[in-house]
Amino acid sequence: MTDAPSTALRGALIVTQDDSRRVYRGDLLLRGGKIEEVAPAIKARADTEIDAHRFLIAPGFLNTHTHIANALLKGAADDRDFPKFLEKMFAVDAKRTEVDIEAGALLGAAEMLLGGTTGFLDMYYGEDAVARACERTGIRGFLGWTVLDPEITTQKGIPLDNAAGFIRRWKGQGRISPLVALQGVYACKDETWLKGKELAEKEKVLLHYHLSETRGEVQDNEKKRGKRPPEWLDSLGFLGRHQVAAHGVWLTNREIELLSRKSVAVAHCPSSNMKLASGGGGICPVTELRESGATVSLGTDSSTSNNGLSMLREMHLTALVHKQQRHDPESLPAPVVLDMATRDAARALGRERDLGVLAPGFQADLVLYDLSHPSLLPTRADNAVSNLVYSAQDDAVHTVLVQGEKVVESRRLLKVDWAKEAPEIERAALHLLSER
Ligand SMILES: [Zn+2]
Repeated sequence: MTDAPSTALRGALIVTQDDSRRVYRGDLLLRGGKIEEVAPAIKARADTEIDAHRFLIAPGFLNTHTHIANALLKGAADDRDFPKFLEKMFAVDAKRTEVDIEAGALLGAAEMLLGGTTGFLDMYYGEDAVARACERTGIRGFLGWTVLDPEITTQKGIPLDNAAGFIRRWKGQGRISPLVALQGVYACKDETWLKGKELAEKEKVLLHYHLSETRGEVQDNEKKRGKRPPEWLDSLGFLGRHQVAAHGVWLTNREIELLSRKSVAVAHCPSSNMKLASGGGGICPVTELRESGATVSLGTDSSTSNNGLSMLREMHLTALVHKQQRHDPESLPAPVVLDMATRDAARALGRERDLGVLAPGFQADLVLYDLSHPSLLPTRADNAVSNLVYSAQDDAVHTVLVQGEKVVESRRLLKVDWAKEAPEIERAALHLLSER
């Protein structure tokens, strides 16, 4: 308990995401950036009293796989296969400057906050610029500096050293959690994987990486190293706790069991996988992973392969595609999908004790949705979770708090002057995409 001023939000429809998944009309008491109490009725008077009857309040989403700076490149590499997609991305990457990265990150952070996402897991280089964009907008950033083999990188210097420097600069800085991001088996040799893990263990930070996204990646690894990617990484002694693997489209039953046993979390990115046709009709085996005990979260991937950062849209698609795929309308019901976007994502990030749930002691990262928005009307306790997953649109998001700080209100960003930033972002995109 602190002496910080308190705020009470009264009479809201609260989707707690707590252990009992309670949804009820009630009050939230916030103090010092955290939730002090959540209950059907809180007696204590707060320093600030807010009537929240017209709002549904839920935990902010945690987007567990993206490359936020690519928000600048939406529409730049559509309708092409993965190798051609990467070719275009690498060509653009070679021209990147810190100015472009910060502009793209600002754009991505704005899009996410306005869609109810309060934290994200990023993979890129130039993450100092991404961290600055997080500070400017107020979003929480789990920022992974991309590590790949030094001989193929477009980064200046050695990627692993760059990651180490980034972690040293940003560790313990408020809402920024720096970490190590390994690009994937197609860009990292065994030494790179092991040194990346060593750095993450030394600094006690997360590891994030792409895994078994495309069939080509799996086949190439089998040809080159005699093993499929998860088995190969296991044989190196790489797999373990505090790791989030993105995609996991091409996993065998044995690999599902292996990832679960090693406590590797999987970030499912259905929009990106479908747009790049990574699964060729297949999809990440979310149900099997969950049944085997693995943590599965959701990610949008980047704006070049999605092409948006909306977690509401990603949840909607997730619920639908698994039902279609499995010929089973009971597959991935709405409460499971909401868990993946909130509390399970927090567990993937190692933050299950203070993020993803509205409960005492948790961070006040929360979203107020306008209950009169057409996409949410009518919403009651009994259909609130379904409406969030299947119906809500991003513009139903009215107010967003991160660590108790109001960063969006009445659908406007409060910390940045968007009218001033938008033309700068447009200029940065034009520079990046010019042929010169
Ligand atoms: Zn990715």
